[in-house]
Amino acid sequence: MRRWTSKFTTGFCATGRRMIQLKKRATADCPRCGSPNEDTDHILQCPEVESQQLWDSAIQQLRENLRENDTDPSIIEDLSEGIDAWQRNVPPPPGYTPAGQAQAYLTWRNLAHGFLSPAWKIQQANYYTNRNNPASVTNWAADLLRFLLKTARRQWDHRNQVLHKTQPDRVKDQALNIEIRLQYDRGRDSLPRSSKTLLDAPLERTLGLPHHEKQQWIISVKTARKRQRTTAARIAAAQRNLMEQIFRRTS
Ligand SMILES: [Zn+2]
Repeated sequence: MRRWTSKFTTGFCATGRRMIQLKKRATADCPRCGSPNEDTDHILQCPEVESQQLWDSAIQQLRENLRENDTDPSIIEDLSEGIDAWQRNVPPPPGYTPAGQAQAYLTWRNLAHGFLSPAWKIQQANYYTNRNNPASVTNWAADLLRFLLKTARRQWDHRNQVLHKTQPDRVKDQALNIEIRLQYDRGRDSLPRSSKTLLDAPLERTLGLPHHEKQQWIISVKTARKRQRTTAARIAAAQRNLMEQIFRRTS
């Protein structure tokens, strides 16, 4: 978890953009909503329905956790509304407490990635003191941090579940593209005359066909080549036969 956390916060998770750099995936699109150039911010900000539900329930849980830890109510409001506005890409509500202003200065993005402004702790320590609550503000902050990282991790896991559901089709499609290129390279010479039109379309257009049409195309080309091979073999056999007869007759 710690290793993952440091990778996530430095943006080196295997997100779409990163994977493109590593050339392991053909696309940097978000596997959940399809938005291009998926980065670590997008893992948390993805607007896809399930991602958003996951986020909304996390914000609800965050508020409950903070209430249970006897948190200053204005901190609960600032924290949950500030981070929620960042996630939805909308302007944050005005009127923060000093701790909220300090976090806004440090950016809410940083909070979502686990970088808390120290001002939260100071404000919460004052609140505990005023209410004669002996609870530890260090534990309070640690709980908060743990929850924020867990929230990010949940989104990451959900994103991977979706990715691995859709990935096999993409891998299969890449395999089809390799086969199609191979058939274009082999050319139309070994195709029977009636099937030569299969290679009429430019390569790029055939590569752009829907998955099942590509499959059908490959089957047609391979069957035609096989038919041509069989015909050629039969002609060769007939010729051999003929030669043998001629040879027998002349000997
Ligand atoms: Zn997305």
